[in-house]
Amino acid sequence: MNSDEKLTQWWIRPAIRQLSAYHVADAEGMVKLDAMENPYPWPEGLKRRWLNQVENIDVNRYPDPSARNLTQAIRRSMKVPHDMGVILGNGSDELIQIIAMALAGDDRCLMSVEPGFVMYKMIAEFCRMQYVGVALKESDFSLDLDAMLQAIEQNQPAVIFLAYPNNPTGNLFDRDSINAIIEASPGVVVIDEAYAPFTSESYMNELGKYPNLLVMRTVSKMGLAGLRLGLLVGPNAWLDEFDKVRLPYNINVLTQITAQLSLENHVVFDHQTRLIRESRACLMKALSVIDGFKVYPSEANFVLIRTTQGLATSIFDALKQKGILIKNLDGAHPYLKDCLRVTVGTDGENRQLLEALEEIL
Ligand SMILES: *Cc1c(COP(=O)(O)O)cnc(C)c1O
Repeated sequence: MNSDEKLTQWWIRPAIRQLSAYHVADAEGMVKLDAMENPYPWPEGLKRRWLNQVENIDVNRYPDPSARNLTQAIRRSMKVPHDMGVILGNGSDELIQIIAMALAGDDRCLMSVEPGFVMYKMIAEFCRMQYVGVALKESDFSLDLDAMLQAIEQNQPAVIFLAYPNNPTGNLFDRDSINAIIEASPGVVVIDEAYAPFTSESYMNELGKYPNLLVMRTVSKMGLAGLRLGLLVGPNAWLDEFDKVRLPYNINVLTQITAQLSLENHVVFDHQTRLIRESRACLMKALSVIDGFKVYPSEANFVLIRTTQGLATSIFDALKQKGILIKNLDGAHPYLKDCLRVTVGTDGENRQLLEALEEIL
């Protein structure tokens, strides 16, 4: 062991040393169907208006610390109830971190479900919270309500995150079960609606019915992943406290003006996400007739597939060889054995995927 290693062994706490950094595959030149991005470019007219605005930004000045204009555009386009507060994060990942930082303490528990979104667990560990992941039902990835209620009773979680629809499984959880979880929870319940553009279900209109309910969204999956912007909506009593641990100026000027313009022109993105939903139906149908593939229901812009036993990694590698990047979930969780996740691309990209699969299998 060299002296650098000795130093890090001494100073970096074991929980951090045991983590592996969030891995992002190199996608240079690939057909990118791994990260739930919107594949469509901007219409020329919108791009020109955007460039005109960018020209007039004073980058020597700090951004508006409360991003008022952007927040107004969010309230209008996402139909945020008037009596609810909004705080913004540098991606919803930052909001998860803000929530965890505000709630963390010795023996404080952050709860979610498994298989689920990996950042909840990672951030719990960054912030020294106890992470509890309650298993979904193996057969259909639905909530195991009895197991959830028991885990809530036992761990008294400060916060529960439920992705609705869930990532990486793509399904919506049963609303009666979610409501029972909110009612049984001593702390806050955050409904993570990262995939809201691809489903008609939402908890936005349930806000206010429960004092401990919050809704989180992001503009990443709707088509603005490069901006890094997420939002948390809920009762001001919670948001005023979370706002205290938010770093000043966390939303930069380019993100503020670009997201504002985009949301004022949300019809452009509504159209794109509608196309993606239509392509999802075609893609799911085509995948489901492939011999040995089981396709799970999806209300998101990706599809979870279970392949013939033992084939997931070889299919993933063969697709990569052909320039198509998807997500290999085999090994990510025992319930995801032999599973692959495919982001819905353009019809052309989806056809390339299907043709490549036909050649491989
Ligand atoms: C992609 C994703 C996010 C992260 O969103 P960002 O705003 O890009 O940080 C949050 N939650 C879920 C469930 C996701 O799938």
